[in-house]
Amino acid sequence: METQLASRIDGKAIAADLRASLKDRVDALPGNARRPGLAVVQVGADPASSVYVRNKRQACETIGYASFGHELPADTSQADLLALVHQLNADPAVDGILVQLPLPTQIDPDAVIGAIDPEKDVDGFHPFNLGRLVLGQPTFASCTPAGVMVLLERSGVSLKGKHAVVVGRSAIVGKPMAALLLNAHATVTICHSRTPDLGAITRQADVLIAAVGRTGIITGDMIKPGAVVIDVGMNRDDAGKLCGDVEFASAQVVAGQITPVPGGVGPMTIAMLMANTWDSYQKRCAAAP
Ligand code: NDP
Repeated sequence: METQLASRIDGKAIAADLRASLKDRVDALPGNARRPGLAVVQVGADPASSVYVRNKRQACETIGYASFGHELPADTSQADLLALVHQLNADPAVDGILVQLPLPTQIDPDAVIGAIDPEKDVDGFHPFNLGRLVLGQPTFASCTPAGVMVLLERSGVSLKGKHAVVVGRSAIVGKPMAALLLNAHATVTICHSRTPDLGAITRQADVLIAAVGRTGIITGDMIKPGAVVIDVGMNRDDAGKLCGDVEFASAQVVAGQITPVPGGVGPMTIAMLMANTWDSYQKRCAAAP
């Protein structure tokens, strides 16, 4: 008998669709209307950060947003960066502010994130927005977990009453992911590095989200037959190839639906950043005198 393989959740196509619908909305704005504006701040020239920043600015240009790039030298002081953040907070052309992480060691990232106006925190990292998310109030949700929710929705996965297991508890992925799933009425379990017998828990998951950063930590024998498996991990294998936290070959013969890496969660992150920027723009336009 032929083995049934999990159907693939095509994040690339879903992200492209989302971006196209945002472009349609920008194209439909009256000619004299202000465009949505995203400020992208980078401190230093970390090569991976430069790629992310370039991709974010390119996405703005394709959709038709104004993108304001601020590239600061690696020895920028915290006071100077905070001064720039305050300036962007006050700039009416800026709907979203993104400070690319990681920051050089002389700068406390919490101080910088905390200085961003929560109304312009399109990354959803500000404690105020994370707090609102946990309370189930409307807010900017961190882009990667918000993107996972869109993938689940577009793939017809219902979450109500399902057991969702999130592996990883970072402030930018695992914790907001768990809050979003809980808000969608899933029963949520969070695992982390101190969780003994990870497989015993992941095997109970109807929906399994891996956000660890370790190649192949989730193998097929750790997955409940038919489960939906979402792989947030973005790792490099020994040959430098991009791969996820899930061992795809063994997982796809057990899971019902699965995201590949690349082409799964990854493309959703920037698409959700663009969606959050649109939401901020609309809110700010509605509030403008
Ligand atoms: P962090 O390193 O901040 O968090 C990793 C989490 O995994 C921690 O909570 C840690 O537990 C947990 N963990 C580590 N080892 C184990 C283990 N053996 N068993 C169970 N849990 C474990 O990473 P991020 O959350 O920032 O990112 C996670 C992954 O997602 C990375 O591969 C990253 O590259 C990727 N990523 C992808 C994005 C995308 O756009 N697709 C965006 C953001 C991240 P503990 O808290 O106990 O240390």
